[in-house]
Amino acid sequence: MSNTLPQVSFVIPLYNEESNLPTLVDRLVQVIDSSELSLDVVLVDDGSSDKSREILQALALQDSRFHVILLSRNHGHQLALTAGLSVAQGTEGVFVLDGDLQDPPELLGAFYSKFKEGYEVVYAVREKRKEVFYKRWAYFLFYRILKKIANVDIPLDSGDFSFISRRVVDVLNQMPEESRFIRGMRTWIGFKQIGISYDRQERANGYSKYSFGKLVQLALNGIFNFSEFPIRFLTLLGSSAIISSVVYFIVVVIKKFFVNEVIEGFTALLFVIILFGGIQLAAIGILGEYILRIFFQSKNRPNFIIEKQIMNGKVK
Ligand code: UDP
Ligand code: MG
Repeated sequence: MSNTLPQVSFVIPLYNEESNLPTLVDRLVQVIDSSELSLDVVLVDDGSSDKSREILQALALQDSRFHVILLSRNHGHQLALTAGLSVAQGTEGVFVLDGDLQDPPELLGAFYSKFKEGYEVVYAVREKRKEVFYKRWAYFLFYRILKKIANVDIPLDSGDFSFISRRVVDVLNQMPEESRFIRGMRTWIGFKQIGISYDRQERANGYSKYSFGKLVQLALNGIFNFSEFPIRFLTLLGSSAIISSVVYFIVVVIKKFFVNEVIEGFTALLFVIILFGGIQLAAIGILGEYILRIFFQSKNRPNFIIEKQIMNGKVK
């Protein structure tokens, strides 16, 4: 087994998922054993502080179908996934899942058969989301806004859960972007892509590892990496401010000379000053989001650091 490459590799990022590991591994083993495909699994530990790291290492040493990557610290889901994709060996493609069993590994067959029909990317589309209402709404709105403003047609309600062909994985591995929004990059690459609907399960155990801050960061990465709309919007806002001020000025002058009425309005003046002070600061902030991304990218740091790697039952 260890010398022949698998057809498909599972790639699963994990951060403090100790409580989900036993079931996850059981279900993966069942899928591997019952499948006609040759499969293996890349489990990426994203700097967990629970017992995940020990459990994973023991697993990888005893079952060579499971490869384990331990990152040097918590890099975040997108970079952990990037690390997994960079080592996955599946010759036909990879199947990307979350480690909390929200994405059932048993769906591999359905995704794979779409791949066999000629689709390079088969992404999952969430029909129902079993999550708290404000999170559901936030996701709903975000994907719809992104669809409106992004310069690639990122499918609605699809996350990273997907089957990605070897060809597309190779392209992803060549994209050095530091601020990664993988579902967008995957769409950007192109080729034939198709969605499969599924009901997103509830997280099996534990709590979400995507903190509010991490989710906001992901959303901002989606917007600022795939849209120039915020900048264009500023130009539009600035231009309309100039136009309305000119119109206002003309009105004031006409009133002064023809009606002899001088417009007073200290409050209005104050309001306008504060309003435009605010708009200018926000505009600088928006520009800053783009500049920040240039700044971090220009450092050329590696996107992730692997502390230890156990592949094919051997420590690397
Ligand atoms: N995850 C990770 N690093 C992080 C946060 C999350 O590797 O910094 C993993 C996590 O263990 C899970 C997957 O990414 O396997 C999705 O995260 P989670 O289920 O917490 O997000 P949610 O489903 O709540 O959006
Ligand atoms: Mg989850």
